[in-house]
Amino acid sequence: MNANLIEIFSSVQGEGRYVGCRQVFVRFEGCNLCCSYCDTENQPGMHLLLQVENHPGSQRFREVMNPVEPFEVSGYINDFLRELPHHSVSLTGGEPLLHTGFIRELADNVDCPLFLETNGTLPDQLEKVLPYISYISMDIKLPQVTGTDNWENHKRFLEIARSKDVYVKLVVSGDIDVKEFQQAVDLVAGIDNSILMVLQPVTPMNGVPAISPDMVLELQQIALESLKDVRVIPQTHRMMGQL
Ligand code: SF4
Repeated sequence: MNANLIEIFSSVQGEGRYVGCRQVFVRFEGCNLCCSYCDTENQPGMHLLLQVENHPGSQRFREVMNPVEPFEVSGYINDFLRELPHHSVSLTGGEPLLHTGFIRELADNVDCPLFLETNGTLPDQLEKVLPYISYISMDIKLPQVTGTDNWENHKRFLEIARSKDVYVKLVVSGDIDVKEFQQAVDLVAGIDNSILMVLQPVTPMNGVPAISPDMVLELQQIALESLKDVRVIPQTHRMMGQL
């Protein structure tokens, strides 16, 4: 039960409801989607070496051969936790739910809440790890971003995830399809209109255009017509020069 990881480090959460919280980040390699604005190298097998931060926040790393076993990774995490209390351990990627067996084993050996950052398209895999997860940051991926229709999977996923502390995050770009955006809002409202939706202005890359301030407010207004809590939160770690 091993996996290729990209990096393990301690930093502040830069996105979503828990922005600013200190976390240990465990970044998995590999993803089941291919988003137009992806900023992670995700081809399986690309990372022969895992980067492990020497001390929490030092931004100095040592290299460890991939793949690694959960017990070994829990050792790195617990070293961090001994040096500094953390809010939670963020399982990110890539798509961490491609590694459910690894997550279950990791959870057994880490005494800190697990925070799942996921693209929200793998409901069956979510069920396998749900008892071990405390927080879920679930993306909604519009078809225009992935080239695939993810609606049914997103719906099933959110229905399962709502038993936890979950919020939905939607990256918004200058060329957003407003009809698809409305469909995402309707999906969340149809399950529970009190679930927080975070609109995250895209960091422009790969030709994906930035969104204008006016457009962000317009989208927030559209969402607020159906949802009780809609917040605009950019990627703050980039502003702060954090990892
Ligand atoms: S879901 Fe996330 S990691 Fe996967 S391709 Fe999209 S942006 Fe990249």
